[in-house]
Amino acid sequence: MHHFPGMPLPLAQLVEQLSGLPGIGPKTAMRLSLNLLSKPEEEVKQLAGTLAGLHQAMGFCSRCGSFAEHQHCTVCDQVRRDGSVVCVVEHPVDVLMLERGQGFSGHYHVLHGRLSPVDGMGAEQLNFAALDKRVESGVIQELILATSATVDGEATAHFIARRYSTSDVKVSRIARGVPEGGELEYLDEYTLARALDQRVLWEQTSV
Ligand SMILES: [Zn+2]
Repeated sequence: MHHFPGMPLPLAQLVEQLSGLPGIGPKTAMRLSLNLLSKPEEEVKQLAGTLAGLHQAMGFCSRCGSFAEHQHCTVCDQVRRDGSVVCVVEHPVDVLMLERGQGFSGHYHVLHGRLSPVDGMGAEQLNFAALDKRVESGVIQELILATSATVDGEATAHFIARRYSTSDVKVSRIARGVPEGGELEYLDEYTLARALDQRVLWEQTSV
């Protein structure tokens, strides 16, 4: 525990818990804690209630695997979006990042990870069964592979291109605006939007 001499335990506990969050050091945690203490109790209870119910209120879309409050995510629920173009990503947060660009009108598919033999992540551990079904349904015309620009992300893209090479689905890869080793969540929305816009058709010869 970080030591702030003279700090009562309830406050010290809050500081400790907040400083476990990314980007928040002990000093920021103390500032946030004192700020919460200075707010009306009702307001703080509201925040506590949101925190307490977060896990129960959130789940994953049964169709694409994105974050969802109900059975389907807000993207799958929008009738005006184009279900024939599906962008395949590794993590639910990638969908949030791509949606910030507001330029993509297709749907998504979240794998919940990437192939990684070292970590024991094979195709069975990833959300492929649902993607197989979506491809088999014949609705999808293009799969845009937006896996990360890491060695495992590239291997996953290759795997997907090969997996669906005998189907009628066109496969493309987001453009190399994405830096080597890049996780999607660290890119700004303009870089992401451009990478998506300038996607390149997957060469069958490289599969
Ligand atoms: Zn969905």
